[in-house]
Amino acid sequence: DPYFAGAASTTGSLAARLQRPRGGLRRGGASTMARQRTGSVQHQQQQQHQDEPEVDERLRNIEPRMVEMIESEIVTTAHNVTWDDIAGLGQAKRAVHMAVIYPLLRPELFQGIRAPPKGLLLFGPPGTGKTLIGKCIASQAGATFFSISASSLTSKWIGEGEKMVRALFAVARVRQPTVIFIDEIDSLLTQRTDGEQEATRRIKTEFLVQLDGCGTGEADRIILLGATNRPHELDEAARRRFPKRLYVPLPDRAGRRTIVANLLRKQTHSLTDAQLEAVCDRTDGFSGADVDTLCREAAFGPIRSIADIASARVDDVRPIDFADFEYALTQVRPSVSPKDLESHIRFNSLYGMSA
Ligand code: ADP
Repeated sequence: DPYFAGAASTTGSLAARLQRPRGGLRRGGASTMARQRTGSVQHQQQQQHQDEPEVDERLRNIEPRMVEMIESEIVTTAHNVTWDDIAGLGQAKRAVHMAVIYPLLRPELFQGIRAPPKGLLLFGPPGTGKTLIGKCIASQAGATFFSISASSLTSKWIGEGEKMVRALFAVARVRQPTVIFIDEIDSLLTQRTDGEQEATRRIKTEFLVQLDGCGTGEADRIILLGATNRPHELDEAARRRFPKRLYVPLPDRAGRRTIVANLLRKQTHSLTDAQLEAVCDRTDGFSGADVDTLCREAAFGPIRSIADIASARVDDVRPIDFADFEYALTQVRPSVSPKDLESHIRFNSLYGMSA
């Protein structure tokens, strides 16, 4: 695919082009933590002294404690995911390049009515690579990756969820370019139910306020990635907030083959090509995560067949063979039901974007 090959070669330099020096966020708090990780104590003290009057304007009304919490629990910078780590999904990868990667790489080409929407919704069954795509975008764009799940917003931070949402978006602005990945976004966007707690309701309201205000500045480089396994629960207002909706389907045969081959690469195994094909045949309907689980289950076969594991030598472990996969196939079943799959296909034909 020449189009995609070109894309792959340009993204290498993307991180470098987009990387801006990241200053400390504010005196104390997260920036101190960052310095402690990197510099000598003396240098830190000097640096801290110089930084002292600087508190980023955008964080002025945010409690330092919250900034720290966000830095430690939500922000990931150390990841190195490439497009090659994501098996199959050629169409989705192409669409992501058009919707997100190229606009970040060449903002001058995507202005005015070509300006990309700030949000992209990834929908599809669980375990199909939505989170992987989010990480890959952040990694390839040299962006800070914020990852939250809607349920953690409403459960873990009960009592201060609203403030945390505000803090999260403020930190995201300071740490641009950023990718904010929100899993289970359906539960934050959908109609409030009667029995819902007041605290949850307020978190949702604050989230929508922040979402709507996010990245509206011309120069803002914040990408919102919403992920959902239940797109059919999104109402029209929710769909309007995510005008681009991308289907992340179950892996096809070739995709499954790549996942299996990648996982077996670092193991000794005796599978012939024909046996590998047989595994692919028998995993129709498996998600990427299911295939991953299957391979891990199979990889335990050789260990299980050792009589005395405690004293076994590494060299005594036999290669993984086809029988291990046959056994694993009796243990691991596809996690996505045909009915569930059908609802994704229907949503895609009604509201999905094409590559
Ligand atoms: P979700 O769609 O639920 O966000 P994830 O991206 O978290 O799924 O995928 C879960 C795991 O399944 C990944 O960490 C990876 O091991 C495996 N996986 C799923 N899809 C793929 C894929 N297309 N290529 C490679 N691995 C995959």
